[in-house]
Amino acid sequence: MKIICIGRNYTDHINELANERPEEPVVFLKPDTSVLLHKQPFFIPPWTDDVHHEVEVVVKINRIGKHIDEKFAHKYYEEIGLGIDFTARDVQQKLKEKGLPWEKSKAFDGAAVLSRDFIHKSKLPEMDNLDFQLFKNGVLQQDGNTSHMLWKIDEIIAYISQYFTLKIGDLIYTGTPAGVSRVQENDILTGILHGKEHFKIKVK
Ligand code: ZN
Repeated sequence: MKIICIGRNYTDHINELANERPEEPVVFLKPDTSVLLHKQPFFIPPWTDDVHHEVEVVVKINRIGKHIDEKFAHKYYEEIGLGIDFTARDVQQKLKEKGLPWEKSKAFDGAAVLSRDFIHKSKLPEMDNLDFQLFKNGVLQQDGNTSHMLWKIDEIIAYISQYFTLKIGDLIYTGTPAGVSRVQENDILTGILHGKEHFKIKVK
């Protein structure tokens, strides 16, 4: 299983980090070891003091494919979840400045939070109109809707499958809206997708 992440997919988040609007999707990977195990707290690694939450809609791939045409992309996923792409912003900033890969800041152990359960898309509204939120200690921090994506789910699948064969169980993190913020010890992070709680994790 691999995790493929899309960066800079919401204009309001691009603006809050003063990033350039990309001409093509920004793509990076996380290894399977980055998944935070269920019921485990998230431990802030000792080499960073600026870990940000990025709440993201997650797509689970259900059949193998490459060079997938956008009009067939919907056949490659049935279930949708929610996750956090934890990012050590201080480390990422240094890597970005040097033009180096981001993995140390985004692919570390525990950096990929996932829904307890994924939801069949027939039980959700249109894929391009999904509401999702992240609450930190009960306070709304990120409030997104997939209609604001620069690249929609089917476009993302078509794009990344030009480079990577998609396999059953692969996960795609589709980018984060504005409102990312630093997490601190004892924070409680709650993720909501279409009104339903998908995860609740404690920061240590
Ligand atoms: Zn992200």
